[in-house]
Amino acid sequence: MRPFTKLVAFDPAPSDPLRPIATPIYQTATFDQETATEFSRYDYSRSGNPTRDVLESLIASLEGAGQGLAYASGLAAIAAVTRLLKPGDEIIAGDDLYGGTYRLFSRVLADRGITTRYVDLTSGDSLRRAISTRTRLVHTEPLTNPMLRACPIRELADVAHNAGAILCVDSTSLSPHLHRPIEHGADIVVHSATKYLCGHSDVTAGVLAVADRAVGERLKFLQNAEGAALGPFDSFLLLRGIKTLGVRLEHQQRSAIRVANALAELPGLVVHFPHLGNSDQRAIHDSQCGGPGAVLCFETGSTERSQRIIESLRLFNIAVSFGGVNSSASMPWFMSHASIPEPIRATKRFAPDLVRLSIGIEDAQDLLDDLAHAIRRTADDVAASPAQESLA
Ligand SMILES: *Cc1c(COP(=O)(O)O)cnc(C)c1O
Repeated sequence: MRPFTKLVAFDPAPSDPLRPIATPIYQTATFDQETATEFSRYDYSRSGNPTRDVLESLIASLEGAGQGLAYASGLAAIAAVTRLLKPGDEIIAGDDLYGGTYRLFSRVLADRGITTRYVDLTSGDSLRRAISTRTRLVHTEPLTNPMLRACPIRELADVAHNAGAILCVDSTSLSPHLHRPIEHGADIVVHSATKYLCGHSDVTAGVLAVADRAVGERLKFLQNAEGAALGPFDSFLLLRGIKTLGVRLEHQQRSAIRVANALAELPGLVVHFPHLGNSDQRAIHDSQCGGPGAVLCFETGSTERSQRIIESLRLFNIAVSFGGVNSSASMPWFMSHASIPEPIRATKRFAPDLVRLSIGIEDAQDLLDDLAHAIRRTADDVAASPAQESLA
C-alpha cells in the first residue's frame, strides 16, 4: 500500500463483531476476566487498551516499524527512550533541537548520571569525531530546530551503529507522510503527535516507532511499568486526525512553498526553508524526504520588528506549537526554545529576531495577503520597497 492509502486502510476494530468504520473509544479502566486465574486479551488499560492498540499498530505500519507505542505527550515518548540508558551512559544530541528535549536531557537526565553532549549533526563527520565508547544514544531531528538544516539520517545511523549506539530521530516536523527515518537506518522514531499527526491542536500526545522487536518489547514493558501511555479518548482523536494527514500536509506544504518563495523575494528578510537552503543541504533533505514540509522561518534583523510583524497578523495565531490546521506564528527564542538557558541559546544557530511560521489549511492567498499587510505595516522604518507590494 502507498502512504495515502495506509492512512485509512487499516482495521479500525480488530475482533469487534459489529464492524464499525471508526475505532470505538474503549473508555474503560479495567476488563472483566473469564476466571480469577487467567487474564483475557485485556485486563487493565495502562497495560493495554483496544483503542490505543489500533493507534499503535497504525503508527508501526506508517513508519515501517516492528512496534508502535503511544504516550501522553511527545516528551513522555522521548523520556521513555532515555529509559534504555543507565547511569554513566552518554547521549549525543543535535545542537539545534527542540527546547523541551534540551531541558529533559540537561536538567532531568543529568541528575540520573546520564550526560548529554550537543553536536552539529548536519554532517556525519562531526558525529564521527564526537562519538565515544560511552555513547549509547544519538538523538537528532531530520531538520534542525528551529533553523531547518537537514541532518543526513543514513550517515548518522551508520556512525552510531559502528560505535554501538542507537539512533533516535524526532521526526515531528515532517511526519511519516514526508519522512520515514527507519527506511534510512534509524532505530527509533519519535513524534510529538500533538503536531501533524493530530493536526487539529486538540490533543497532546507522543508516539514511538521502534524498528527492532526486542527493543520494542522492552519499551512496551516500560510503558506499562511507568504508566505514561495515552488514554483511550486521546487515542481515538489521534486516529481521527491521522486519516487526513496526507491531504492536510500536501495542501499545507503547497502553501508553505508559495509563502517561502514570496518572503524570500522581500529585501531585508532571510528565509529558512528546506527548499531554499544551499545545494548540499537541499540534496541531503531531498534524498530522505518527500517534500519541504510546512514550517518555515525568517529573520528580519530586528527583534522589535519581528514582534510587530507577528502581532499584526490576523490569520496566524501566536502559538508555540505547529502542525495544526490553523496557521500560527511564533518567536522560538521567547517561546518554544525559552527553556534553553540564554547563554546556551546565544551560542546556538538562531537569534531572538527569528520568526517561525506554521502554515495551516487556509487559502494560501489569504495567508500571503495577511503577511503582506503585516510586513507593510512594520516597514515604515525600513526603506519602503515596491517588492513588498508583490507579496500579495
Ligand atoms: C512539540 C515537540 C516535542 C514535545 O512534544 P509534546 O507533545 O509537546 O510533549 C518534541 N519534539 C519536537 C520536535 C516538538 O516540536
